[in-house]
Parts: sequence; structure tokens; C-alpha cells
Amino acid sequence: MTSERQPATERRTYEPFTPPRRVLLGPGPSPVEERILQAMAAPLLGHLDPVFLRCMDEIQELLRFVFETTNRVTIPISATGSAGMEAALVNPIEPGDEVVVCIHGVFGERMLDIVGRCGGRPTAVRAEWGTPIDPEQIRAALASCSKPKAVAIVHAETSTGVLQDLKGLSEMAHDHGALLIVDAVTSLGGHPVGVDRNGIDVCYSGTQKCLGAPPGLAPVTFSERALEVIRNRQTKVQSWYLDISMVEKYWGGERTYHHTAPISMNYALREALQIVYEEGLEARWARHQRNHRALVAGVEAMGLAMNVAPPDRLWSLNAVRVPDGVDDGRVRARLLSDDQIEIGGGLGPLKGKIWRIGLMGSGSARQNVRLVLDALQRALQAEGFDCASGVEAAERVYESGAAS
Ligand SMILES: *Cc1c(COP(=O)(O)O)cnc(C)c1O
Repeated sequence: MTSERQPATERRTYEPFTPPRRVLLGPGPSPVEERILQAMAAPLLGHLDPVFLRCMDEIQELLRFVFETTNRVTIPISATGSAGMEAALVNPIEPGDEVVVCIHGVFGERMLDIVGRCGGRPTAVRAEWGTPIDPEQIRAALASCSKPKAVAIVHAETSTGVLQDLKGLSEMAHDHGALLIVDAVTSLGGHPVGVDRNGIDVCYSGTQKCLGAPPGLAPVTFSERALEVIRNRQTKVQSWYLDISMVEKYWGGERTYHHTAPISMNYALREALQIVYEEGLEARWARHQRNHRALVAGVEAMGLAMNVAPPDRLWSLNAVRVPDGVDDGRVRARLLSDDQIEIGGGLGPLKGKIWRIGLMGSGSARQNVRLVLDALQRALQAEGFDCASGVEAAERVYESGAAS
């Protein structure tokens, strides 16, 4: 490889790019079913073609189904989950607005950064990484504000494996005239999110976690209360691309050109949502829960420990402590090279301390639980850490579940 940056010349030949088939059990992207890859290969349509408009309508209908909402404005933003986060924050927040931002991992920190960039005045509520936010601290933070505009919180903290209970948060926010903004990137399609049930005003997700499509779109939903707040803004939304009142005109009745929708990605999302619909939300959540339980049983039978207390554990993302004396990176490298399995490492204060095993979307499967437990045992033994097999303990969870 040359170190100077050169344009491609006629003399160079490029080998075909043939990525290996990995088993994606990290923090995302998750495995994508063949059916979805096929859908992406369908012929391109114009972004205002009546047939594509029908595809868009079905996506909105199916998104309302997975978000469990009747919100009119429920659409995919044409960019990844972080753009969903940015859309959720830049639309309601104006310079000077007070925002309570809950931080218990990487994605809470990212929200805080965006609120600052909007000119908002954040009040941070923090919890140690690996634990959820204490709602009483949110209550206190709201009380310390004069006119809070929103509470922003991550439902499924992918950096730590923690599930945040949302119960009572909307009443708390609404009592102060604030909106509840929820990051459901790693929960939507894997855990109950229940936008309307939980009184969430703005919720966003990504396609590549529990929805099981490739990365590239960010489903978002805005309640009427949120839209009212946005209509009453004194200033323009600072982002042209993410201004929901403009994006909505393309997705809504007017179909005004705003940007060229990523056609093939929308085919993929439509197909992924159809798969969720066919499976059913309850069955899908139960599958994510069952495979998580089996994985935990296996991990513990191996003599390893989970990093999050049982009631706060995500089903979609499992944080496993790296045993003392074991090099986190070397084990992950072995899984990738020997078994084609990708798992994640820790971030920030958890760097080198945890592995993050994602069981998301179609990746949440009995076969993958078996595969990763077996491969992890072999990798640990190769690194000189003696441990038992976790596979049998995991299998017992499935068998007891089948009996009940
Ligand atoms: C993955 C993730 C995001 C960001 O999504 P990208 O698609 O990587 O931009 C935001 N929040 C959470 C909780 C995530 O897990």
C-alpha cells in the first residue's frame, strides 16, 4: 500500500470485493436475513413513483405497529440511528431551553453533546455505567429547572447492556410541561417499547439492531404534543436536513421533494418490518428474552459473570465480565478468525472489562447462543483460562421453557 494518497490509475486492477460471512453477535449491525438482502436487490424506483409511495405508506403503517403508536408522524429518517437521535433533539430544542439529559453510557453522553450543540442548557443526571438511572434523580433535576423543555433518556444502553425502566417518567416530565424523548435504538423490536402506553413524545431507533435490517435508516415518531411544541418554536430548526416539518411533507400527504429517499434501504426496512409483523411483537420479545436467559445460564455455567444486575439486563445486549488475567481483544480476535463470530468490547470506563454479546433480530437464535458459548469456551481455553462448557446449561433453559 502506498502512503501517498493517489487517485486510482488505469494500471491498477481491483480484486472483486467478497466480504466473508460473519456471525454478527456484537452491538450492531445484527445479522440480516436473506429475504431482506433480496428485497434490497429489487429494481430501483423513482422516489416519487406511485409504487414507491405505496412502499412508504406501508413502512409508516408497520412502524406505527412496532412503535405501538397512533402518531401520524412516524417515519424513517434517511440516515443511521444517530440521525434519529439528532432529529429527536434538534426539532424540539431551541437555544436557551432547559433539558434534563440522563447519562448512563455512551449514548446518553451523545445526547448531551447534541443538546449543547442546539444551544440547550442541559442538566445531566448520571448513573454509574452498568446501572440504570434513578427516577428520583430525574424528579429532582426537573424540580431544579425553571421551565424544562424535555427529559432525554436511553431505554437500552448498548454500551453497558442496561435496560432503563420507563415507568412513571412521562408523568414526571409532563407534570413539568416537558416532553419525554426516548432512545429505543437497541430495544425496538427486541423489548417492549410501547410509545403510546409509556407516554413517550419522541422516540427513535435504528434499522441494524433488533429490527434486523442493515444500518442506514432511523425510524422516528413524534406525538401530537411534540409536534405542537415544534410548531411553537421561535427559531428555525438548526438542521435543514432533519427539520421534521419539512421531512414530513415528503412522507405525508403532500409528497413534496425534500431529499431523495434511499430507495433500496427502504425496501430493506419494509421487508424487515414485515418479518417483525409476521412474527408478532409478543413472540419476538419472548424470543429475545428466552435466548438472553439461555446465554446467561451458559455464561454463568462457564464460571463467568454478567456485569449488570438481573432486573436491569437487556435481552438484546449481554455484558459479560472479562475474567481477570484474560486479554479482551485477543479473545475477540480469536472468535473472529477461528469462528467468524463478531462480539463487541467495552467502551469508556468498561473498556477491556466487558464483552458485549448482541442477540438482536434474527441473531437472537438458539443456534447462535450455542455457537457463541462453544466458541468462547475454546477461545478462553486457548488463552490459558480454564473453563467449563456453557452449552448444556443453556440447553436446559430451552427445555424447561418448552415444558412450561
Ligand atoms: C447504535 C446506537 C445509536 C446510534 O446508532 P447509529 O446507527 O450507530 O448511528 C444510538 N443509540 C443507541 C442506544 C445505540 O445502540
